Amino acid sequence: MSPTERWHAVLARDRRFDGVFVYAVRSTGIYCRPSCASRRPRRTQVTFFPIPEAAEREGFRACRRCHPAAANGGDSAVALVREACRAIAAGARPRGDRRRLARAFKRVLGITPRAYAEARRVSRFKQELKRRKHVSPALYEAGYSSTSRVYEHAHEQLGMTPATYARGGAGIGIAYVTVPTSLGRLLVAATERGVSRVALGENAAALEAELIAEFPAARVVQDKSGKLHGWVAAILAYLDGAEPDLDLPLDIRATAFQRRVWQELQKIPFGQTRTYAEVARRIGQPTAARAVARACATNPTALVIPCHRVVSTSGETGGYRWGVERKRSLLEMESEDMQKLDVQTQQR
Ligand SMILES: [Zn+2]
Repeated sequence: MSPTERWHAVLARDRRFDGVFVYAVRSTGIYCRPSCASRRPRRTQVTFFPIPEAAEREGFRACRRCHPAAANGGDSAVALVREACRAIAAGARPRGDRRRLARAFKRVLGITPRAYAEARRVSRFKQELKRRKHVSPALYEAGYSSTSRVYEHAHEQLGMTPATYARGGAGIGIAYVTVPTSLGRLLVAATERGVSRVALGENAAALEAELIAEFPAARVVQDKSGKLHGWVAAILAYLDGAEPDLDLPLDIRATAFQRRVWQELQKIPFGQTRTYAEVARRIGQPTAARAVARACATNPTALVIPCHRVVSTSGETGGYRWGVERKRSLLEMESEDMQKLDVQTQQR
């Protein structure tokens, strides 16, 4: 089920989806079942979660009006995963057949039970860090024996290569924020000079772990000064269909080839697509379609460098670093908004 389909179910207050997913609203910090009678939030304020426990892990509270945690969809795998999540939250080992549990986790949450427990621990670690000033007590509290283990786990979880890890970003300061969006969690990170990373993911903990893994030698801190606010607002406006041109200063590392591809991608207008082969031709290397696809897959700044507008020749969506489902939603959103813009233009 795509985020757009979920959003339509929320707009329709469709009871059939109670127990299938919940939606959380950033401005209120509350999550609801799709049929909740409360006022519909703005789409940019909404994040979807497959189960209530996943919303709670991100710090959202259950709505008192619709009691989303009590909704059961009659799906036995979902019930099994929810019970296991509650056991993990209580510090216990989930019960039942391990292979069945692993299959259910993969289907409902897209991750293994171990990855869920790990992400939960990273998230607790972050919360502890926010609460306390010193690192070590937070680490012990979150169940880590040493700082290096945090990096090791971030590393394993996200499949970073040792080469990326070693490059590290030594000597630079990186500030970041994460916000919920209609496409999941958005992370925006920047140096003094510009935006260095725009990423989409399921939750803040995983995105933060990925950022730290990418720049292990940098001073990575959560932005409290509000200096990223304008850039985040621009990206949210874009996701809302209100800002077709995302023109932000970038501070990214690139090979000469990557730079050429990424600059070419920035020329593709909102609402349009190119194939990998077309981009290869436009940069004067018609045989380099595969290398273009690789450059798209290593784009560090989602949306700002619109690699989602590059599709495979066969008319298929092609891959996307931040999930093919998100790519489909973005292309859908852009074509819908183009139609609206066209109508407005004709009416003028
Ligand atoms: Zn509600």
